[in-house]
Amino acid sequence: MNSQSSQTMGQQSGRRSWAEPWKIKVVEPLTMTTREERKKALVEAGYNTFLLRSEDVYIDLLTDSGTSAMSDRQWAGMMLGDEAYAGSRNFYHLEAAIQKYYGYKYIVPTHQGRGAEHLISRTVIKPGQLIPGNMYFTTTRLHQELSGGIFHDVIIDEAHDPNSLHPFKGNIDLDKVQALIDQHGAKQIAYISVAGTVNMAGGQPVSMANVRALRALCQKHGIKVYLDATRMMENAYFIQQREEGYADRSIAQILREFCSYTDAAWMSAKKDNLVNIGGWLAVNDWDLFEELRNLVVVYEGLHTYGGLAGRDLEALAIGIEESAQDQHIRSRIGQVLYLGELLSQWGIPIVQPIGGHAIFLDARAFYPHLKQIEFPAQTLAAELYLDSGIRSMERGIASAGRDATTGDHYYPKLELTRLTIPRRVYTQAHMDVVAESVKAVYDARQSVRGLKMVYEPKYLRFFQARFEPL
Ligand SMILES: *Cc1c(COP(=O)(O)O)cnc(C)c1O
Repeated sequence: MNSQSSQTMGQQSGRRSWAEPWKIKVVEPLTMTTREERKKALVEAGYNTFLLRSEDVYIDLLTDSGTSAMSDRQWAGMMLGDEAYAGSRNFYHLEAAIQKYYGYKYIVPTHQGRGAEHLISRTVIKPGQLIPGNMYFTTTRLHQELSGGIFHDVIIDEAHDPNSLHPFKGNIDLDKVQALIDQHGAKQIAYISVAGTVNMAGGQPVSMANVRALRALCQKHGIKVYLDATRMMENAYFIQQREEGYADRSIAQILREFCSYTDAAWMSAKKDNLVNIGGWLAVNDWDLFEELRNLVVVYEGLHTYGGLAGRDLEALAIGIEESAQDQHIRSRIGQVLYLGELLSQWGIPIVQPIGGHAIFLDARAFYPHLKQIEFPAQTLAAELYLDSGIRSMERGIASAGRDATTGDHYYPKLELTRLTIPRRVYTQAHMDVVAESVKAVYDARQSVRGLKMVYEPKYLRFFQARFEPL
């Protein structure tokens, strides 16, 4: 099936392919639409792919969040849901899975990632404190800001350059962290917010050496390191493939070592952990755990279910175990590489190196004749949908939002359209269809005009904003 990636496997003489380490037991039919039907649907959706109905979508690459296919074991686990209000047996399975694979001591389940971000932000951020992070994530930064924190991007400069081939573009620039400490003092820093892989940079990983060095720096100044573990399994795969000394380590071993350099983590289990809903917080500090456990009751539910049903907790516990298997992660990222390498070969501008969960089309290079305020990435997502019914999403100026103090748009360097691959859902033939549609849209790029925003919500505007063609 898939030819081995030249990027990660090296050139080989005899072709040896890998295939998905599963076979299909249940199928879900897809709907096909005409261009006319898609045009109508797009106008109704205000040219925002988030506002399309999923039944009007053919191949859905909007997000890898909550869109994974669960295994037969996970579905069987759903039947073992212990729907007790307190102390469900499934909670203890989840707790044990997180302790085993991630290595933290105390666990608080939440309904999804932002529930966890809300709790930890409220608990540890004092108004006016800084939160240095390796590029922002939308909900993460918003919760930090809603708690009075001020986010500072401390990712290495290469992350902002879609053409840089740095193998660990998610790395933290320690000089930038040191400069913040020198300027503001360690007490003004709430914690360092580390994400692996970095979604907004194109699914780019953080190296083990980098997090180890960050740990040493922070220990010297008494600053905590908190991990957004949402895509850490994928990050571990890149360490295994690219970092010296890790080729023979398992994903599970690499994950445990990485987490050991951090003090706590939050998780959107809808990504790596192969479930359709769920999240968690995990910490090593008892006092912090106590506070989180007090707060979860207010916003999510009792501390042994956190807004989830017993069956959800069970599927999540099993999903963690499955997601840490080397053959799973290899085929998951292998599929992303397959699509990305096809597009690269055809000369289509994408963020390099290819990241873990998605292909990011470089909309600036696609549409050099559009100004950023004409929403090139949003335009590209709309054109792709029109061409073939493939749904992607904008990661550019619309997602970046506005500066809370000045009210101006943020103008991010990266103006990207994301093709996000759900886990265990589509086949290689779907990837071929996607690549061919991107190529068709690329060939027609010169005739395209941009969009204007005609409705702008106050928070996370990209979800619900509406646009019209210029
Ligand atoms: C999705 C995501 C979140 C938020 O999680 P939800 O489950 O969508 O609430 C936080 N951080 C990262 C890196 C994410 O990808």
